[in-house]
Amino acid sequence: MIDHDVLIIGAGLAGMRAALSAVENGADVAVVTKVYPVRSHSNAAQGGINAALSHQGDDWRDHAYDTVKGSDFLGDQDAIEIMCREAGDEVVAMEHMGVIFSRDEDGRLGTRSFGGQQKARTFFVADFTGQALLHVLYEQILKANVNIYDEWFLLSLLVEDGECCGAVVMEISSGEIHVIRAKAVIMASGGLGRVFEPSTNALICTGDGMAAAYRAGASLMDMEMVQYHPTTLKGSGVLITEGARGDGAYLLNSEGDRFMKTYAPNMMELASRDVVSRSEQLEIDAGRGIDGCVMLDMRHLGERFINERLSQIREIGKDFANVDVVYEPIPVRPGMHYQMGGIKTDVNGLTQLPGLYSAGEAACVSVHGGNRLGANSLLDTLVFGRRSGQHASDAVKGKSHKNVGESAADGDRSHIQRLLANDSGNELFGRVRREMGDTMNQHFAVYRNQAGMDEGLSKVRALKERVGKVYVPDKGKTFNTNLMFSLELDMMLDCAEAVAVSATDRPESRGAHTRSDFPDRDDENWLKHILVTKSDDGPQIDYLDVVITDWKPEIRSY
Ligand SMILES: Cc1cc2nc3c(=O)[nH]c(=O)nc-3n(C[C@H](O)[C@H](O)[C@H](O)COP(=O)(O)OP(=O)(O)OC[C@H]3O[C@@H](n4cnc5c(N)ncnc54)[C@H](O)[C@@H]3O)c2cc1C
Repeated sequence: MIDHDVLIIGAGLAGMRAALSAVENGADVAVVTKVYPVRSHSNAAQGGINAALSHQGDDWRDHAYDTVKGSDFLGDQDAIEIMCREAGDEVVAMEHMGVIFSRDEDGRLGTRSFGGQQKARTFFVADFTGQALLHVLYEQILKANVNIYDEWFLLSLLVEDGECCGAVVMEISSGEIHVIRAKAVIMASGGLGRVFEPSTNALICTGDGMAAAYRAGASLMDMEMVQYHPTTLKGSGVLITEGARGDGAYLLNSEGDRFMKTYAPNMMELASRDVVSRSEQLEIDAGRGIDGCVMLDMRHLGERFINERLSQIREIGKDFANVDVVYEPIPVRPGMHYQMGGIKTDVNGLTQLPGLYSAGEAACVSVHGGNRLGANSLLDTLVFGRRSGQHASDAVKGKSHKNVGESAADGDRSHIQRLLANDSGNELFGRVRREMGDTMNQHFAVYRNQAGMDEGLSKVRALKERVGKVYVPDKGKTFNTNLMFSLELDMMLDCAEAVAVSATDRPESRGAHTRSDFPDRDDENWLKHILVTKSDDGPQIDYLDVVITDWKPEIRSY
């Protein structure tokens, strides 16, 4: 058995930022991650991180207003205020730790424009901002002697006397199962992108932590709010950063028309993501697309500029679409990118399950509400990662471990035994995973309706019946990725069900949840969050009022 004060699941930006603040606050901290820390999906973030810095004539209140409006008024305004107020210090702190942000002509931290924002307030490192931030934070937690269990896989959370007190984890290299006791646990396990196919997310983004928290009794919130990013590459679904449009790229339809002037005459390509994705879908559905896509044109930016600020995009275009963006427009379409919802927390990261905190994409504070602004997620991971690390490490002071022993892992051990005993006539995990991804992308995408969502939900439930019968051909203990993928699939289906149940429950259009059968926003009845909690009868729905401080709901146009 292993003991630590604060146990963090996940070594992305949220997990590492939480680890740093907890260790600086005197706690004995451990981080468990299923991949080597710098392979976490945060590494793939391209475009940047938002902050309103006063030397640029910006004000956190303007950032907060843009975020509230972007969320279609579903974001909790107390949390949004905290995030935007603390953003500047967080970016400067990362700069001081060693992140080499791109500079403007005067040598100061430079910004680029991002969608849904009145001002250019996105700080960036070319088009690999996440990688730069993640590597610097990793250096910092190594320096601070945080215990890192890399390539260890979370199986479940431990709950004793109604309190989260640790986790059951599997060491992937040996297949050995361990109990880690902790006085507080922070779930920073990232998003669930791969519940949908295709997705911009890494293959490891399987919603494990959301499912584990849900199974342990925490509630999930805003799960119906799934972001489709307007510029994902034809075929593979790889992301083409919003920074390209921020730096001046256009969207064109098959007639060579900049169609965004019809849908968002003021902000054009830089309207909120939900707005741009819907506009593209309408163009494609009206027959003005090209092979299910529209075109992103950045030729006018010139080779020198593209090489300096968007070099990774040029490489992605060449490698995945055989297009050199310097000379040709590139085909893009709306694709699954981000889950606004997650484990419901307060502004200090505490979930509804005592002892359990959460931060980053796994969590829902809720600062993104119905639609996240580009470059607000990296900010969310750092601000609420730091806050949850701080509060969890305060809470463990003077606390002792719960009296749990090795037997706490018995349930997971026998679950794995059962799975390994399935015979070869049974299901293959890849087939179930593909059907789940296709189902979600068909019924819970940019436009939704009741009949489609009902069908999607019943398909997901049928897949849940099949997942227990998945055949795991590899019976070995060493790096049994076959077993791990099967365990992930089981967790993904809990997430898929939570998304489907929440979406079918909201009879209005708000943010990313747009219904052809209920096209209007209904503030009178639905200015509230949907929560899903596990019960013996399946997912149970509850509601929570949205926190409104300064900004009353208004008509949202760009
Ligand atoms: C391609 C792409 C580009 C993006 N660009 C931007 C951008 O420019 N700006 C922006 O603000 N946002 C961007 N985003 C969103 C943003 O990057 C993510 O929301 C954010 O990085 C998530 O960070 P995180 O720390 O919550 O999780 P992640 O970085 O996903 O880390 C999750 C961690 O949890 C661990 N984990 C998960 N399950 C288990 C398990 N079962 N056992 C053990 N460990 C587990 C993983 O190993 C990993 O370490 C982008 C996202 C993508 C996909």
